[in-house]
Amino acid sequence: MKKQFMPFITFITALLFIAAGCSQSPQAKETPPRMAAAAPAKKDGLPNVKILATGGTIAGAAPSKTSATEYTAGAIGVDALIQAVPEIKEVAHVSGEQVVNIGSQNMNNETLLKLAKRVNKLLKSDDTDGIVITHGTDTLEETAYFLNLTVKSDKPVVVAGSMRPSTAIGADGPSNLYNAVKTAAAPDAKGKGTLVVLNDRIASARYVTKTNTTAADTFKSEEMGYIGTIADDIYFNNIMTRKHTKDTDFKIDKLDKLPQVDIIYGYQNDGSYLFEAAVKSGAQGIIFAGPGNGSMSDAAQKGAVKSVKSGLAVVRSTRTGNGTVTPNREYEKDHLTASNSLNPQKARILLMLALTKTHDPKRIQTYFNEY
Ligand code: GLU
Repeated sequence: MKKQFMPFITFITALLFIAAGCSQSPQAKETPPRMAAAAPAKKDGLPNVKILATGGTIAGAAPSKTSATEYTAGAIGVDALIQAVPEIKEVAHVSGEQVVNIGSQNMNNETLLKLAKRVNKLLKSDDTDGIVITHGTDTLEETAYFLNLTVKSDKPVVVAGSMRPSTAIGADGPSNLYNAVKTAAAPDAKGKGTLVVLNDRIASARYVTKTNTTAADTFKSEEMGYIGTIADDIYFNNIMTRKHTKDTDFKIDKLDKLPQVDIIYGYQNDGSYLFEAAVKSGAQGIIFAGPGNGSMSDAAQKGAVKSVKSGLAVVRSTRTGNGTVTPNREYEKDHLTASNSLNPQKARILLMLALTKTHDPKRIQTYFNEY
C-alpha cells in the first residue's frame, strides 16, 4: 500500500472501478448504475441486505491495472462498490453504509464494538434480512470471529473482502461481493454463525484464517473444511458444532471498551520480559503463541506464571497454524489455559470477551472448549 498515490487516484480510480465492475457481463452494461439508497419494501420477495463497508483491498485502488500489491486500501466508498456490481440487485435489495474506510491492520477494539453494535441494531429490525460486511483481508478473521461471538441474531452475517484491488486485472472484489450478498440473502445461511465468503467458498468465522500474503485463495479452513461452496447456487456442506451468536454468553451492547489482551510469540531463546512489559502496560490477558502444542520455554513459563500472579489470564495457543492445544497438567497447575484449536489472533478475540465475564481460568477454559 502506498499512500502517495492517493492524490492521483481518488476520482479516476473510482471511475475505473465502476468500469471494471460494469464490464463483468453484458447485462451489467445495460443496467444503469444506481446510487445506494434505503432498502425498498419487499414487494417482490427479495430480501433486504445491508452492506456495511469498512475498507480494505476490496475498496482499494491502484494507479494501474497491473498493480496488484501497490495500492491504497479503502479508497472507494460503499456506493461505488455497489454500483460496480449491479447484478446484486437481482438477488437482494441492497443498501450501503460506510462504517469506516481503512486498511484492516488499523481495525481496533473501538471500531469492532461500533460495528458489532450496528449489526445487532440493524438485525433487530424487520427491514434487514441479512448483512454483508466488506473488510480488509489482513484481520478479517478477527472481526468475523468477534461478530460470531457477539451478534444476537440468526439472520445471516457475511464478511467479504478481496485480494486484488478494484482496479486490477482479474479483480476478485466484484465476484466476492456478489457471492456474499447472495449468501446473505439465502434462507439456508440462517443460524450458521458469521460466515466468511471469498473465492467461491463459504467458511465459518470460527475456523477460517488467512494463509497466504497475496494469493486469491488465501482463506482456508484447514483440517475443518469449508461450510459451503458457491457455484452459481449456494451449497452448504457442513454444520457448525461450536457455540455462536445467540448461544454465547457475551453481550456487548453496554460495553464501550474491551480488556487489553496481548499476543506474545514463543521462539528459541525467548525470555520473560515481554510478559513483564504486557503486565506493565495494563494487559488483562496474554495469548502465548507457542511452538508445537503451546509449549513454553522455562523463561516464558516463568513470565506467564508471574503474569497470572499479577491477576492476568494467560492462554497458550500455537504458532504452528493447525491443531488443538491441549490443557497439559503441567500448565494447568500454573493456572494457564489452552486455546483449543483457536489460532493466537482469534484466541485474543475470545479472551477479550471472556474477561468481560470472568477471570477464573477454569471458566475461561470452558469458553475455549465450547466456542
Ligand atoms: N492491508 C489491507 C487490509 O487488510 C489490505 C489487504 C486486503 O484487504 O486484502 O485492509
